[in-house]
Amino acid sequence: MSLPVAPLIEIFSSIQGEGILVGCRQIFLRFAGCNLACSYCDTLRDTPGQCRWEIRPGSREFTFLPNPLTPQEVALKVRELNPAIHHSISLTGGEPLLHTSFLLELIPLLKETRQGIYLETNGTLPDRLQTILPLVDIIAMDIKLPGTAKIGPCWQEHREFLNLARRKYVFVKLVVDENSKLEEIEEALDLICGVGDIPLVIQPVTTPEGKIQLNQEKVLTWQSRALERLTDVRVIPQTHKFFGHL
Ligand code: SF4
Repeated sequence: MSLPVAPLIEIFSSIQGEGILVGCRQIFLRFAGCNLACSYCDTLRDTPGQCRWEIRPGSREFTFLPNPLTPQEVALKVRELNPAIHHSISLTGGEPLLHTSFLLELIPLLKETRQGIYLETNGTLPDRLQTILPLVDIIAMDIKLPGTAKIGPCWQEHREFLNLARRKYVFVKLVVDENSKLEEIEEALDLICGVGDIPLVIQPVTTPEGKIQLNQEKVLTWQSRALERLTDVRVIPQTHKFFGHL
């Protein structure tokens, strides 16, 4: 039987710029490919022929590895980035759950971080989550607002996903912009509250220059509505863009 392989865009060490763990040091494994096509996506759509890999943690000096990679190759590169000083390893994308066979081989090889494996996901592939759930420690799950992402509704997939994800430490991320509708935010809140009192991050779309084009009053109103129903609701932009990298 052939070993699974996966295409990656990059492997590097940096600061988590989004969500509840903002500011924590992580090793990022950015997988290529996604099952959605959100209007605000800032990730490469095409699979690159090579994966760029940072030579020393935080140096921003890269070398290149031909895609696709084996789990052993990725684990070796992670080890060279000194996992012991990192909070966790972020599996990000794209959509990392498109590569579950690969992850089943890879994750047991990733050791020595302080808090384990952090999965960043669009929250639409519950069957795939179930396969790797025992291997994951923290889940950052998107709920897509159809009018903002400009994609079809994924409410049912999100509901099933969150019901599984709640067995781990999970928080939900709602990306919003000037066009986001209160009705869709309420629908997302119904979904979350139907599962439990899950922490929520409202994330305004942030331009590559670190600008937020969203009326402050609007976002405060959305946060107030969410706080009427949930205990922990934070507004956090994509802070890594203030540092000048995507
Ligand atoms: S789910 Fe994420 S990676 Fe996929 S298209 Fe949407 S923003 Fe891009």
